Parts: sequence; structure tokens; C-alpha cells
Amino acid sequence: MRKTLLRGMRLIDPATATDERIDLLLADGVIAARGVDIVADQETRIVEFPGAVVAPGLVDMHVHLREPGREDEETIESGTLAAVHGGITTLAAMPNTEPTIDTPSWVEYVRSRGRLARVHPIAAITVGREGKALAPLAELAQAGAVAFSDDGCSVADANVMRRALQYASMIERTIIAHCEDPALVGAGVMNEGLASTRSGLSPIPAAAEETMVARDILLAGSVGARLHIAHVSTRGSVELVRRAKADGIAVTAETCPHYFSLTDDDVRSYDTSTRVNPPLRSADDVEAIKEGLRDGTIDAVASDHAPHSLEEKQVEFDAAPPGMIGMEVLLPLTITHMVDTGILSLGKAIALMTVQPARALGITAGTLETGAAADVVVFDPRAKVEITSDWFRSLSKNSPFIGSTLSGRVLITIHDGQIVFEEDLGTAQGSGEDHGKRAAESNELVVGV
Ligand SMILES: [Zn+2]
Repeated sequence: MRKTLLRGMRLIDPATATDERIDLLLADGVIAARGVDIVADQETRIVEFPGAVVAPGLVDMHVHLREPGREDEETIESGTLAAVHGGITTLAAMPNTEPTIDTPSWVEYVRSRGRLARVHPIAAITVGREGKALAPLAELAQAGAVAFSDDGCSVADANVMRRALQYASMIERTIIAHCEDPALVGAGVMNEGLASTRSGLSPIPAAAEETMVARDILLAGSVGARLHIAHVSTRGSVELVRRAKADGIAVTAETCPHYFSLTDDDVRSYDTSTRVNPPLRSADDVEAIKEGLRDGTIDAVASDHAPHSLEEKQVEFDAAPPGMIGMEVLLPLTITHMVDTGILSLGKAIALMTVQPARALGITAGTLETGAAADVVVFDPRAKVEITSDWFRSLSKNSPFIGSTLSGRVLITIHDGQIVFEEDLGTAQGSGEDHGKRAAESNELVVGV
């Protein structure tokens, strides 16, 4: 297999506490060497971008790929194409497909179809995500389920949730909780507050999320299980996770870029792409999310990439399904709202999208240590990206960020040593061979930005 030398760029690898200008050599699909002035032989492709950063391929722990069942919205193929366009080389796929991923054969189906990026299936906690009978967790784990979640809804029955936590703990897997009490959500479609009063849309109180976060933390603590809270969106939830961690409970948490870059005021336009579960919150909640990311209470930034067709979203706000696409804007939104604003260092931001979600999932990924898989993203943190509908590689286009300009442009994404995305040249679909030919004459590739 061809070697690749990433030369003379700023290498940020939080897993090994590295932030320095060094070379990175990829060979045989793994990180072969790192250091200063690594010598390249004739066969080595050289990648060099002035001003760029080399980081581990991003790990997105919350993605909806829609296959099986809604291949008009996204497939594993199109979803991984979108992933690598966003610099993501490892993703965890939620089980709320049609049918639900609650059998070993469906887990195997999802796991084996990731070609451009590594796809880790998350299996359902309960059969059909109905919240009643536990799915066969041990067999699902055996087939490759990385974690369990009924994402899309909470497991309303506390006893079912408690037993799920106990079983998952025995087989050393994490339960990922979507925390929204169905009774408190009711017919609500947006955050309860001034904005909902003004808009006349049915409100969802912060307590709908916080009561479930509190319950699940108590249950996990009482049985000694590992719990991960998905898409934390309120000040109260951040505070509950902060206290649980201080109490030594094995809880981790994620938030999504839309919970630190948008507020419930953005729903004012009745743009259905701003309808998400949990809903966009108040400016005060956004401040608390940022603080939670800054002080380490929140472990990961995940996209909650949720593709929906145009037809489904072109309806009244309350009739639209919740969710927005997010993998391709994960990095630029985080750089623009958390790094450019001085809240996080670039290294801390990268940790939230690489090694920290990998640890929360209990997988080996998100590191550039020698011997690790050659999953790498090269990006320019200062280069601007104009978000247009055409720019997205996802099959769906439901994003409230269309029309905005963000910082942080992905230049190259490498998965298992192969270039799977390359700026301007489109996607080299897992080979990088064309590119090798072009670069062969000079043994060098320098693309200015
Ligand atoms: Zn969810």
C-alpha cells in the first residue's frame, strides 16, 4: 500500500497531548511514524498545506443514517460520504431505522456497510424501541453493537431502564439516554419561554429534559452502570451532569453544535429546519452549554445528524419531523462558535470531537499515536466555508445553516490510509489513486489555501 507523508503542518492530537509542527507518516493503513524531517522515499505521496492543521479523523457519536427504511433521506453510503466531507472517519449510527436495529443481523448489516468511514452500530435498548421488552443486549453486543439507545424517545418505564443499565453494565456497554419525558413534552414543539409565547407554538419545558437526566443519573449510579446523556441542551442538565461527575457516577455527556450556536429566537422564522428534539433553548441555556464544554462537564460534541426529505419538512412547523443534518458542519460550527470566540483552544475543541467521544463509546479511535488506524483530517481552521444547499454531500438538505459563512475548511480526509475526501477534487471514493498519478511526476503535492 502506498505511503503518505503529511509534512510540516501543525499536528494536534489531544490523546497524546501533542500540539506541534511535526511530520506524520502513514503506511499500511496505520500511523507509521511521527517526528521532525521524516525522509520520504519515491513511493511516498506528500501532503503539505500551508496553514493547515493535522488532527485525528473526527468521531461523531450521534448520527442517523436512515438505512434501512428511509433510503430517500440518507443511506450508509451517502451518510459516510457526508461524514468524510466533514472530516469524520468514525461514526456511531442510531437504531431508529425501519425496521429498528434490534437484532444481531441488522447490527451486522449496518456495521459491515461503512466503506468510506467506520460505522459503529448503536442497537436499541428495547424491542422496536417500544420501551417494553429489553432487546437481546448480549447478542447485539456480540454482533458489534457499540452501545444501546432508544434515541428519539426516552425509555419511559424506569424499571425497564434500570434493568437495561444492569445488563449493559454486565457486558461492559454504555447506555445512551435520549432524555425527554414524553408526558412533559406532550404536544410541544419548541422551548418554553418568551419565544414560544410570541410564536404561539406549543412549548416544551426544560424540565422535560432535566427530570429524565436526573432519573437516569440516579438509576445508573444505583446499579453502577455507565451512562451517556445524548444532546444536553439546558442549564439544569449541565448542572446535573456536573454534580453526578463530582459524585463519582460514571456518566458522560454530549451536546450538539446547534445547542451552542442557535437559540429559541431562531425558531421565529418558523423555519422547520430549526425544529429539533430537544428543542433549541434560551440564550441563558446556550451560555451554560458553553461553560459545560469549557470546564469539561460535557465530554463530546456530536452532530445528531438527522436527515429529512424536503417534502417532510415543507409543512407547518408543528407537523415537521424533528432534526437537522449536521455531520458536515460539526467542525466549522465548533470552530466558529467555540474557538474563534476564545472559549476553547483548538486542541480542546478537537478533543471533544475525537478521543473523548471515543472513550465515551469505549472504542479505540480519535488518536494519532503510532500504530493507530491511519484516520486523519487535514483542515484549515481560518479558511471560510460558505454553506449552500449544493455544498452538502448528504442526500438531505435540512439545515438552518444554509446561507451562513463559517470558519474551518476540511481539505483532506484519510481513512485507513486512503484519501476518502479531497477538497475541490471531490471524493476519491476510497482509493486516492488518481491523485497518486497526478502527484507522481513531482513526488509532491502542495495545494495552497
Ligand atoms: Zn435523541
